[in-house]
Amino acid sequence: MRPYEHLIVDIPDYPKPGVVFKDVTPALADAQAFSAVVDDLSEHFMGRGVTKVVGAEARGFMVGSAVAYRLGAGFVPARKPGKLPRATISESYDLEYGSDALEVHADAFTPDDVVIVIDDLIATGGTAVAMARLVERSGAKLAGLGFFMELAFLNPRPLLADVTDAEVFSLIRVE
Ligand code: IMP
Repeated sequence: MRPYEHLIVDIPDYPKPGVVFKDVTPALADAQAFSAVVDDLSEHFMGRGVTKVVGAEARGFMVGSAVAYRLGAGFVPARKPGKLPRATISESYDLEYGSDALEVHADAFTPDDVVIVIDDLIATGGTAVAMARLVERSGAKLAGLGFFMELAFLNPRPLLADVTDAEVFSLIRVE
């Protein structure tokens, strides 16, 4: 068990009845836990020539930008439609009811970039798939995807395997 695992709080029936939401914010608010999470994710991807980290709003910004700093890489925010000020590329993904989309600036990645996706949590995998597609459409190399927590019982990996053969790494897996 990772030393910060006990700080993640189960919130029953949030955001709707029947869903148990994993609240990772206590682990981000604890100084020792936050630096251990960032170090553990960063160490896994160290030495691979990562030039950019992409993370989705909003908790992906918190973990992703810290990992980028630790790796000496840049950070690219993936945002909900209409939030970025310049030309964007967009990928939509399915939600349980309906769909949503993520955008990055069209010039955020170049074919020379070696990119990792970082997010606090992977559940169905839709958000991560959208980010992986945005990286690969831009011609950059997707070197891996890293998560603080993986809801493995939702089986996100096959969805990701359909779009990329990049490695998926999670600090905590919930079976
Ligand atoms: P997915 O697209 O179903 O894999 O959902 C992952 C995205 O939704 C991530 O960006 C997470 O921040 C957020 N998310 C989904 N479920 C949870 C949860 O239980 N706790 C925290 N974030 C969640």
